[in-house]
Amino acid sequence: MADNTTMEKIVALCKRRGFIFQSSEIYGGIGGFWDYGPLGVELKRNIKEAWWRDMVAGHDDTQAPPNAPSAYAMVGLDTSIIMHPQVWKASGHYDQFYDLFVDCRTCKARFRADQLGEYPCPRKPSRRAGEGEDCDLTEPREFNLMFKTYVGALIDPTAEAYLRPETAQGIFVNFKNVLSTTRVKIPFGIAQIGKSFRNEITPRNFTFRSREFEQMEIEFFCSPEESEDWYSYWRDRRLDWYTSLGLRSDNLRLREHEPAERAHYSCGTADIEYAFPFLPEGEFGELEGVSHRGDFDLRSHMEGKLIRDGDELVVELDEEGKPRYPGSGKDLSYFDEATKRKFIPHVIEPSAGADRTALAFLCEAYDEDAIPDEKGTLQERVVLRLHPRIAPIKVAVFPLVKKDGMPEIAASIYRELKKRWNVFYDEKGSIGRRYRRQDESGTPFCITVDSQTLADDTVTLRDRDTTKQERVRIDDLDGVIGERLTAN
Ligand code: ATP
Repeated sequence: MADNTTMEKIVALCKRRGFIFQSSEIYGGIGGFWDYGPLGVELKRNIKEAWWRDMVAGHDDTQAPPNAPSAYAMVGLDTSIIMHPQVWKASGHYDQFYDLFVDCRTCKARFRADQLGEYPCPRKPSRRAGEGEDCDLTEPREFNLMFKTYVGALIDPTAEAYLRPETAQGIFVNFKNVLSTTRVKIPFGIAQIGKSFRNEITPRNFTFRSREFEQMEIEFFCSPEESEDWYSYWRDRRLDWYTSLGLRSDNLRLREHEPAERAHYSCGTADIEYAFPFLPEGEFGELEGVSHRGDFDLRSHMEGKLIRDGDELVVELDEEGKPRYPGSGKDLSYFDEATKRKFIPHVIEPSAGADRTALAFLCEAYDEDAIPDEKGTLQERVVLRLHPRIAPIKVAVFPLVKKDGMPEIAASIYRELKKRWNVFYDEKGSIGRRYRRQDESGTPFCITVDSQTLADDTVTLRDRDTTKQERVRIDDLDGVIGERLTAN
């Protein structure tokens, strides 16, 4: 990240190059919703694919990864966005998933009560909300973040349903299905990537706080005795994942929550945080939460909504002494063949956001420098130093000029490389400008067909970060690029 990186520059680049657009922009936009453009969709897909490959599909079930207590299996799921409304009642989301908000009676603006000090007063932006002489704030009120909808033709309370505010519950309610259809044994993890929806009171900071976003979640099931070790394993494993894809460690941190900050059921929560440029110096924003959830989730879906009573989690009862929000009544416990013991598994949950991750990678990759053009004059450029694994376009192919057969050779190289990677062909404009466009898009390599190609079948291969060019034989391109893309 360049020292002078600002959110304005990131947002402008995203729009200019087609990474991220405001949703419904031609109608003035809609707060908290974003569209990923041609480059953005590739970036986000690459992030999700890297996560899936590293956590699920590429995971080796047969041996323990470094620092893991043992070997474990990983499987995936893709569950529905709308679920039975009882899911959200038993999980606690129906009556506890809310933020507190306050309204200003003078200017009619709405603020999140716990973030009042961060908002400027709409009438006097030099002051914070509530600090102006005529600010008139209401008492904090609860606002449930779940979007409500209706299933079927009847719009009445019996048809009410919710868009999921997290993907996790789809995993918990399928715990038995996974156990009975696969041969996984505890410890094992179930992973899911999918859309979640939260009616955030004040969506802001670009895609950081949106109302529709994508999560990449793992629910890792283990025995109560091993749960602390697995909690520690997953915190480190997930932190390392971000650095392996290029987030600098001084912009990243793992912050363990104080007990008072944790949810009532949590036995430990740590956030992986990034120093986003919209935050004041020294402050960090959450990229991912890693949480030790004990047996809270599976028990809730067995017995009903749980509340804390001293050291215990107990089923919340209504006035008649019945569970206020009953669970499924199904047995979600696990029988361990080895120890002949039955228990409710404990859960470690690494829960990441694909959009916040994409935003962090964009901020980290953003850089400005000056490089000499064809005539040796220094030209300022913006360059996205994205890790090759997540770069939207891996290679761009250019004919130096549109004659002497160069476009034909360049197009045939493009077609050949396109079989393996996302490759871009461009023959318009000066070569320097074409390079700079690709630098802004984060493309790690550019290939140029020039007059020497006609004589010896070599092309130039230019590196985005160093801008160095070398000659490579056309026949060797596939191997050389393949090696470099996977080098780190
Ligand atoms: P915050 O405190 O910022 O509201 P949270 O603690 O409620 O986040 P979790 O419920 O732990 O978030 O969700 C897991 C992850 O999902 C977050 O770390 C984040 O990456 C992503 N996420 C949550 N809410 C949003 C949102 N409104 N917009 C974009 N991503 C989100």
